[in-house]
Amino acid sequence: MIYFDHAATTACHPEVVEAMLPFMQNQYANPSSLHRLGKEVRLAVEKAREEVADLINADPQEIVFTSGGTEANNLALIGTAYANWLRGKHIIASAVEHKAVLEPLRYLSEQGFAIDLLPVDEAGMVDVEELKRKIRPDTFLISVMHANNEVGTIQPVEEIGELVRERGIIFHTDAVQTAGRLPIDVQKMGCHLLTISAHKMYGPKGIGCLYVKKGVSLHPLLHGGGQENGLRAGTENVAGIVGFGKAAKVCKACLEAWSWQLTYMRDRLIEGINERIPGAYLTGHRANRLPGHVSFAFVGVDSHEVVQMLDDKGIAVSGGAACNAPTSSPSHVLKAMGYSDELAKAALRISLGRENTDEELDYFLAILPDIISLLRDVRPAFMKNMEERMWQDRRDLYR
Ligand code: PLP
Repeated sequence: MIYFDHAATTACHPEVVEAMLPFMQNQYANPSSLHRLGKEVRLAVEKAREEVADLINADPQEIVFTSGGTEANNLALIGTAYANWLRGKHIIASAVEHKAVLEPLRYLSEQGFAIDLLPVDEAGMVDVEELKRKIRPDTFLISVMHANNEVGTIQPVEEIGELVRERGIIFHTDAVQTAGRLPIDVQKMGCHLLTISAHKMYGPKGIGCLYVKKGVSLHPLLHGGGQENGLRAGTENVAGIVGFGKAAKVCKACLEAWSWQLTYMRDRLIEGINERIPGAYLTGHRANRLPGHVSFAFVGVDSHEVVQMLDDKGIAVSGGAACNAPTSSPSHVLKAMGYSDELAKAALRISLGRENTDEELDYFLAILPDIISLLRDVRPAFMKNMEERMWQDRRDLYR
């Protein structure tokens, strides 16, 4: 199988697997135990914390390990809202956030918080001037993702960081799609909370973190043994944490080389599709987009069918976001960008990773045009057949 679905998840880097193995075999002690075995494991957890902090220029004490991006986003939003409810009731987020942000916000709206969703332009970009206009005296939290998972658009987070600095508002950014893919410096970005998930950056699934700037108060979601500075109770996922630390270290070392390779491949694919397929719309921003991220809407096809036909040919891609795959509802991201229901259901996401090769791109570019034109040809005939059959059935009924 050719794997073009790295925005959904990535394979663990071999060095990550190697680093994790001892913690699933011999080094199984609880890091809170006071004996020698426990202390050794604690050292490994703290080393990983340093490695993750180093990736984003944070202090290790500002890293709270969680079970992944979803939990980190929930902790950032619900934790901030519960800790700051005396300061205000108003939260602003972009309309193209991942469900792991939109759903906790929906929950908070049921608890009496006022949520304002910031519109985006046709490239999926928020307008900082519009954000400024939406700020109210009781706004205490802004959440805008670093880059979008469906269309790859990178948001002007540093400008937002600047904006909140003057106003004393807490700024959260979901960096699940950018950590390990773009350089991140939380000091320059001016954010107070930042979400990372290890499985999008060649680390294991089920582990991530929330960066919490010193001085920002959060209410924990999980209560228990007081691990992670009281912010996330529960015995640490040691193997996961160690793997996450190693992934952060590997990504930091390779970031520039991978970014160069993935930007080149992305642009090759975008140009190749534009040249070969009429009626193909690149979704998201042409320049301000993630390296390795390609997303198109193809007029007259259903993305589920394209995904299926590519799967038959040995290629794994997604129609929009992988986590929306079982539903047939149009993507909320493309809808917010002004796409019709029909085009929003015709979206394909090809997300490349470090293992992909030029030969794989050649093969993909050779078969995709035929798949799209086949589906476009078959669709009207199929619909016509269906309509004729329904008409026939109806005539039979009244005969
Ligand atoms: N945020 C974004 C932008 C994502 O793309 C994802 C995963 O697809 C998540 C959050 C959720 O992360 P996790 O799978 O680690 O819960």
